[in-house]
Amino acid sequence: MSGVAGVVALAVGLAQAPYTFIEGQVPANQQPDGNSIVIEGAREMLVIDTGRHPEHTEKIIAVARARDKPITAIINTHWHLDHATGNARIRAAYPGAKLYASTAVEGALQGFLARGVEQAKASLDDPAVPETRKTDTRLYLNAINDPVNLIPDQPVRGTMTIRLGERELQLHLARHAATEGDVWVHDPASKTVFAGDLVVVPLPFFDTGCAEGWRQALAEIDQLDFQTLVPGHGLPMDHATFSSYRHAFDAFTACADGDQPTASCVAIWRQQGAAFVAMHPNPKYTEAALGYYVDQVLRVPAKRAEYCGKRVAP
Ligand SMILES: [Zn+2]
Repeated sequence: MSGVAGVVALAVGLAQAPYTFIEGQVPANQQPDGNSIVIEGAREMLVIDTGRHPEHTEKIIAVARARDKPITAIINTHWHLDHATGNARIRAAYPGAKLYASTAVEGALQGFLARGVEQAKASLDDPAVPETRKTDTRLYLNAINDPVNLIPDQPVRGTMTIRLGERELQLHLARHAATEGDVWVHDPASKTVFAGDLVVVPLPFFDTGCAEGWRQALAEIDQLDFQTLVPGHGLPMDHATFSSYRHAFDAFTACADGDQPTASCVAIWRQQGAAFVAMHPNPKYTEAALGYYVDQVLRVPAKRAEYCGKRVAP
């Protein structure tokens, strides 16, 4: 066990642990943090996703401090703020850290992320809103008011390689999947894929998702030679478990594309995704979320058009 709570170094057949996994927490009554990964080079550290709450981001910084190497690069798998809010805190500690991400955040800052601002500001003055919720709201407002720490200075526009000493990380871009642009990372040396929210336990989050592009991304990942996949939320899984996730995803979204009742689609995930449902303490939450995504996102033409990058007919 490392000296930092909630931090696990995974040794996958290498002399030295190839990366440190920091599990994102889902605190009661608060917004979640996504998982983070810290990868050590000869003289520097690289981080995949930086969390939302300062407590999460500080665990990342503690790993770098313990190894006495600066964080020189951040990769954001996508712009959702449970994965990117910590960018600013990391750069405050390590100025000049490069930011690799897709440019989808630029559209999100004008659209999805901008939509909640008025309501968020009003909630800060509402005595009925609990303080923990207000903390999350302030983090959100601070993050979107600081776009330089969300918009990449190293935009990922397709497949690219980052060198970390002898090691080469391959960055891939999935268009119109969990977001308009999702970056996923393949580390051939440790046979690991860092999938971001393309893979999420206990169910895929479709808040800004496009089923079609997402299915394609999962198919591409499945073709690779890897042993471990680190999801955006939940614990690392082996390749076979990922493949079962992919098949459950395909069946669930095919159902949502058709005209079966919502309950039938929910039942498909409950059966084919049973292993993932079991990883969450509250199956009722999972069922409600699945039904919500079928009715409120996947079957809403305007949302499909927005998240799949297609224009709505006038
Ligand atoms: Zn997330």
